[in-house]
Amino acid sequence: MKKRPDKIPDRKGHFGVYGGRFVPETLMPALIELEDAYRKLRKNKSFIKELKSLHNNYIGRPTALYFAENLTKHLGGAKIYLKREDLCHTGAHKINNAIAQSLLAKKMGKTRVIAETGAGQHGVATATGAALAGLDCDIYMGSEDIRRQSLNVFRMKLLGAKVIEVSIGSKTLKDAINEALRDWTTNVQNTHYVMGTAFGPHPYPVMVRDFQSVIGNEARRQILKAEKKLPDLLIACVGGGSNSIGLFHAFLKDNIKMTGVEAGGLGIRSGKHAARFAGGSLGVFQGCKSYLLQDRDGNVLGTHSVSAGLDYASIGPEHCYLRDTDKINYTYATDKEALSAFELLSKIEGIIPALESAHAIAEVVKAAPSMSKNSIIIVNLSGRGDKDVQEVARIKGIEL
Ligand SMILES: *Cc1c(COP(=O)(O)O)cnc(C)c1O
Repeated sequence: MKKRPDKIPDRKGHFGVYGGRFVPETLMPALIELEDAYRKLRKNKSFIKELKSLHNNYIGRPTALYFAENLTKHLGGAKIYLKREDLCHTGAHKINNAIAQSLLAKKMGKTRVIAETGAGQHGVATATGAALAGLDCDIYMGSEDIRRQSLNVFRMKLLGAKVIEVSIGSKTLKDAINEALRDWTTNVQNTHYVMGTAFGPHPYPVMVRDFQSVIGNEARRQILKAEKKLPDLLIACVGGGSNSIGLFHAFLKDNIKMTGVEAGGLGIRSGKHAARFAGGSLGVFQGCKSYLLQDRDGNVLGTHSVSAGLDYASIGPEHCYLRDTDKINYTYATDKEALSAFELLSKIEGIIPALESAHAIAEVVKAAPSMSKNSIIIVNLSGRGDKDVQEVARIKGIEL
C-alpha cells in the first residue's frame, strides 16, 4: 500500500522541520485553548457568516483586481493585475486578520485583546478590531517606536486602545513582543493575544494564513472571470509572510510561478537588510523554528528596511517549507529599487503604494518585460502609501 504523504502542517504545527511551538510551559494552555477554539469556529456557520458580513460591509471586500494598463504598456510584457488590498478599511491587508481574531476572541468569551506593534500598523488594525468587537485593547510598543510613530500612537488612542510603553532593552518591537507575551501568560483567562502575521507558535501561522487567504480566493475568482484563465506569475512582498501566503495559498495546487519579495535594504553584503533567505539560517525565534537573521552564537541581528512592515528578523515557517519544496521562489528588492517602484506606480497609475508593496512592484518591473504579452501577473498591493509619504520626502531631502 502506498504511504499517504505527511499532513502539512502536522498536528503540532510543523511544516517539515519548521514551525512548531517553542514557548515556556506557562503559555501552553493558552495556545491549546486557542487551537481548540479555532478548530471549532473555523467550521462554525454563524462565525463564517458573521466574518463574511464584516468582509463585505466593514472592510470593503471583495477588493478590486485592477488591470494596470499603463504599467503593462510601460513595461511592454506580461499583463499586470493589482490585487487592491490598499483599498481595505484602514488601508492594508492587516485588517483581514485583526477583524477575524477580534471576532474569534469575542466568541471565546474573552473581554480583552493585546498586541505589540513596531511601526504601529498592526497596533492600529488590532485597535480597530477591538473597537468593533467591543473589547478592551492594550498595545505594547517600545518607547523608541512610540517617539517615531506618534501619529499612529494617537490613532490607537482615538480607537480606544491603551498604548503601554516598553522602555527596556532596545526599546523597540523585540522587547514589546516579550512584554506582550508576559502579559498573556498572566491574563490568559480574559485575554486573547492578536498575532499580526503568519508567524509565532502554532496555531498562529495556520490561523493567520487562513484569515488572509480571502485575498487569493477572491483573486482566483476575479482573474478567471476577467481572463478566463489562471495567471502565470504571482508576486507579493514578504515581511512575516501574511499578505503573500494570503495570495499564494489559493493557487498552491496549480502549476503557477510565485515569487515572494523580501527587503534587501542597502544590499545583502552591507548586512543592513531583512532578507532572511538570502542572509539567514535556521533558528528559533518568538515561539517558532524558521529562517532567522542571527550571528554565529545565535544572537538575533539588527535588521534594516526602508519599509517598517518588512523590517523583521524572521519569516513565517510555511514560507520556508514552500521554498524547500520549490513551490515558491524568493528574492529581494533593495530600498532603492522599492523607492523607484513607489514613484513609478504613483505617477503611471495614480496609485501610491505602501513602501512594503513597492518591493513587490519592484519585482514586477524586473519580471514583466521578458514575459510574453499574453501572460498574466497578479501582484498583491498589500497597502496604500499615505503612511509613507513623509518618510519618502525625508529620504529625498524635501522639506514639507
Ligand atoms: C505589515 C505589512 C506588510 C508585511 O507583513 P506580511 O505579514 O508579510 O504581509 C506588508 N505590507 C503592508 C502594507 C503591511 O502593513
